[in-house]
Amino acid sequence: MTDPLTPVLSANWDDERSWKLLNYERQGGYTGLRKALTMQPDEVVSLVKDANLRGRGGAGFPTGMKWSFVPKDNPNPTYLVVNGDESEPGTCKDMPLMMASPHTLVEGVIIAAYAIKAKMAFIYIRGEVLHVIRRVQQAVREAYSAGYIGKNILGSGYDLDIVVHAGAGAYICGEETALLDSLEGRRGQPRLRPPFPAVAGLYASPTVINNVESISTVPSILRNGKEWFKSMGTEKSDGFTMYSLSGHVAHPGQYEAPMGITLRQLLEISGGMREGHELKFFTPGGSSTPLLTPDNLDTPLDYEGMMGVKSMLGTKALQCFDETTSVVRVTLRWLEFYKHESCGKCTPCREGTWWVVQMLRRIEAGEGQEGDVDKLMDIADNIGGRSFCALADGAVGCLRGAIGHFREEFEAGCRGIPAWQYLPYERSST
Ligand code: NAD
Repeated sequence: MTDPLTPVLSANWDDERSWKLLNYERQGGYTGLRKALTMQPDEVVSLVKDANLRGRGGAGFPTGMKWSFVPKDNPNPTYLVVNGDESEPGTCKDMPLMMASPHTLVEGVIIAAYAIKAKMAFIYIRGEVLHVIRRVQQAVREAYSAGYIGKNILGSGYDLDIVVHAGAGAYICGEETALLDSLEGRRGQPRLRPPFPAVAGLYASPTVINNVESISTVPSILRNGKEWFKSMGTEKSDGFTMYSLSGHVAHPGQYEAPMGITLRQLLEISGGMREGHELKFFTPGGSSTPLLTPDNLDTPLDYEGMMGVKSMLGTKALQCFDETTSVVRVTLRWLEFYKHESCGKCTPCREGTWWVVQMLRRIEAGEGQEGDVDKLMDIADNIGGRSFCALADGAVGCLRGAIGHFREEFEAGCRGIPAWQYLPYERSST
């Protein structure tokens, strides 16, 4: 097959010292910013809106539309915050992006801040990834020295400061309002929405929060135009994006391709599953997107395609599991993560995830009781949609998807068969 990969963000990742300013400029870096500064801020917003760039953090909310929600007559300062707290299980695109091409992000931050008329931007990065934090800090320093950040940027009269902020490693701080609490120096816990941050966010001021990949995509749209961006992807999911392949695949990694590519195509390009094994199930975009099976190998990996099969595109983290994997064990591991990371603010999430984990542990050990699977689904129904933020909905989606497709494996755990003894598929090649 012809290679459908479209490297844009990852185009220079193999270059020596791709993260240095000089190398970035040599590849056309910061020309998107120069172009933006010749336009009115509202024109930049319209361009990104017309290109139909949708948020790459998971929810797919249109980026330009989010920018346009910033009230025009608010007396408070406007802030831009980049969400670099990537921590959804399986999700691993923003970290390599910031490591290999931090200036793409920095350029995107300046353009986005200019568009929403912010004079202060924060890049919030997971605390554990010290190497990434240092890399982005270094890029910000370089950009200050070159006059891309600071006072009177490139003689345009526009001023901007950028602060790189290290989080402390809590999954909940990737939730945008908990991130804001954390940035304000408080314990990160989600706030009630509405009001959405675009209206009342950081220090109760209008705040646009965008994912690292979304912001990094902006310079290429400025440079090449909306028609170029829209020439890739599908009708409602335009452009290209990073798909992260992991798990039992021959060649895990980042594959940048048009929206709507299928997992079958990605596996063909990347060398398939590990030798002698076949796909049993996969997540389209991290553990909180309900898992899918080989029946969905040809379903377009875009927002609409995934909704159509009762899942979500999410972060495009394609975790692929082969026939040697116990769905029960994987689901238990994921739910243990959600239980551990629940911030405890609301009861359905705090108690519900704990309860589910106790039951899954029993089922995994083959000590489940008759009716436990129905009870799990009932608990899921009582958590979903009743929690403060999307954390519990993600946990529930993951549980429902697993039971929906592989109920028999969970039932076996209620008939005295532990997960390690249950071989759901006949091995194809042994
Ligand atoms: P959401 O759909 O509620 O909101 C998405 C974005 O749009 C937010 O920035 C929100 O402020 C904005 N928005 C939505 N409606 C708005 C309105 N009426 N006015 C103004 N702004 C509005 O989704 P969410 O709860 O922010 O995020 C859930 C997603 O996060 C999931 O899809 C999941 O895939 C993803 N996620 C990602 C990670 C990661 O590591 N990248 C981790 C966990 C979850």
